[in-house]
Formats: sequence, C-alpha cells, structure tokens
Amino acid sequence: MSSITLKETPTKLKEMQEHYRPYLIEKKIPYSLFFAKKDGVTITAYQSGKVLFQGDHPETEADIWQKEQSVMQEPPSGLPADFSQKSIIGSDEVGNGSYFGPLVVCAVYADKNNLKSLQKLGVKDSKLLKDSQIKLIAKKIETMVPYQLLTVRPAKYNQVQPTYNAVRMKVALHNQAIQLLLKKIAPTKPEAILIDQFTKEANYRKYLAKEAVPITESLYFITKGEQHHLAVAAASIISRAKFLDELEIASQELGMRIPSGAGFQSDQVAAKILKKGGLPLLSQYAKLHFKNTQKAQNLIK
Ligand code: MG
Repeated sequence: MSSITLKETPTKLKEMQEHYRPYLIEKKIPYSLFFAKKDGVTITAYQSGKVLFQGDHPETEADIWQKEQSVMQEPPSGLPADFSQKSIIGSDEVGNGSYFGPLVVCAVYADKNNLKSLQKLGVKDSKLLKDSQIKLIAKKIETMVPYQLLTVRPAKYNQVQPTYNAVRMKVALHNQAIQLLLKKIAPTKPEAILIDQFTKEANYRKYLAKEAVPITESLYFITKGEQHHLAVAAASIISRAKFLDELEIASQELGMRIPSGAGFQSDQVAAKILKKGGLPLLSQYAKLHFKNTQKAQNLIK
C-alpha cells in the first residue's frame, strides 16, 4: 500500500467532498473533514487542507486533483492564445512586503520544451508550497532553465529607497533581470515576456522610460502570473528560496530568529536589534521606511 498527500484550498476541499459524496463513509477521524473510499483508494481530507490518498494505486484518485493543480489557467484577457505553452521569460519578486530581508527579483526563461519537466518538478504557485519544498524545487529549477536573480539587501535598499520609490525600484530590477537574461540566452529570443503584475502597466512603462536600457518588446503584465505561465511560477520559487536563505543568514548573524512579514513580531525583533546596535545595525537587516521602525523605537522608549 502507498500513499499520496496533497494540500488543497478550502474551496477545493468542498469541491472534493462533493465529488466523493457517493463514496463517503461515516468514520470518526480526529481533525478530518471527510473520509471516502473509491475503487480501492481511501481518501481522508483534514481541516488543515491536507488530503491523504491511500491504497495500492492511490494515484488513480490523486491524479485527478494533481493534474488539475498543474494545468495552467487559460488567459482571461490580454494574453495571446495558448500563452501557457509558449517559450517565454517570466519574472517575479519576493520580499517587497517584508520588513526584514532583501527585495529579490528573478527572471526565468522557460522554453516550451522545458515546460513538461518543470511541471514534473512540482513547479506551481509558490504560495501552495512549504518552505522546505520551495528550497528543494528551486535548486532543481536552477539546473534546468536559464535564470537571472537580483538581490537588494536592506543596506543597499535603504540607500536607494529615498530617491527610488518601491515601485520604481521594482521596475528597474525586473527590467535589469530581464535584460541580463536576454543576454544569457541570446541568440535565442523569447516569444514573450510576462511580468507578475505589481503596478498598472502605464505606471510600469512610465518608470521603464527612465531606465538606460528599457526592455519593451512583447511585454505582458498579469496578476497571479504564476497561474498563467510556469516561467513566472519558477521565478517566484527561485526568488522565495533566495529570500528564505537571506532571512536564515540574518538570523544566524544576529543570533535570533528573523521573521518575514511586517507584523508585531517584526516590531519586537527590531526593538531587540535597536537595543543591540541602534539604527546602524537595524539598517543592515530591515527596510527602514516601513512603519515597523517607528513602532520598534516606541517599544524601547
Ligand atoms: Mg509577484
């Protein structure tokens, strides 16, 4: 007997429960939502979103849902037909909303011949993956496709931020990552470039015009870009893995766990760092223009 575990959203769990309605079995299993048995496979769904498929061939059931997870959504608007099957550069960034840690941007070139292998690796929306999976998958992606990663650590970010607002900084970084990647893959040219949208297209192009080498050709923008092409999903995973690594390094250097995000926990950790080395030390690890800086200063008053 073998087993397969999937992680699903609450909406998906409801859909699964509906799907297995004829096969549901009354059985009290702690923290479970439903239990079903179909064609020799038992399906246990938990409140946590985990769904366990067990049996001699659990894939006969699990595949139904796995396939659905990996099938890219058809473009709603603005993207050419069959966009998800094209050879494109996709780019995404991580760390923009986190007080601690760098701003990381990555561009990935996914040739259409690489799409199947990327899919097999489990490349999908990085928000659906655990940190440990992200690190593993990122390493594999890096050996499989050309990519360009750019990391702006807080020290540099704090220098640049007063003159480049966060949006302009991201535009500059996406553009630079794409430009460097285009050089790496030349003479190959992508069929398109897709940016996981973080600002209105007009805004992007406004800031882009200020760049020395603006890349404007075959440029597309869409929110949730990772659902529209695996290149963006891969870029998101590589960026996140790098961001997590940087947080770990910061944690080691400071001898305390450095959180991601921008909540109260970040204020508390920032207060500790301020006590240790004041703003000069904090500026090495945190994006100082966030409100967290003021909040941390208030905490130690
Ligand atoms: Mg994004």
